[in-house]
Amino acid sequence: MNKAIIFDWRRTLFNNDEDIEFPEADDTLQYCQSRGYRMAAISLVSPKNRAKRVEEINNSPLRKYFELALVTDFDKNQLFEQAVKHFNIPRNEIFIIGDRVSDEIKYGNKYGHPTIWLKEGKFSSELPTEEIGKPTYVINELGNLKKIL
Ligand SMILES: [Mg+2]
Repeated sequence: MNKAIIFDWRRTLFNNDEDIEFPEADDTLQYCQSRGYRMAAISLVSPKNRAKRVEEINNSPLRKYFELALVTDFDKNQLFEQAVKHFNIPRNEIFIIGDRVSDEIKYGNKYGHPTIWLKEGKFSSELPTEEIGKPTYVINELGNLKKIL
């Protein structure tokens, strides 16, 4: 398989306001898997919440879809690097999806990934700057990922 997706965890797959996975997440990841995408999830957390976040992902019914689930309290870019290295395929074959342009989209655009901005929720009004660049795709709900892949 030569295509992959790196998912941001919080506010992309997991709704932290409700403390539960988004209802469409399971179905969407199942679809991605059926289309042959390899998947990883990554998450940045404060040091004091690190253990809890690891547990949150590892106990999630979504965990089974991910080859890698990575949590850091230090540097999210390092997790992207780790996931890219793990997949060992060209960056232009690895989608990066997240809810925050200053984070996932910034990294993805900088290093030549196709990027998908889930423009929904808390950070939906935080628009891309010239430095960040436009995301390759914009979706308003996670389920619309299916229309892109
Ligand atoms: Mg997020």
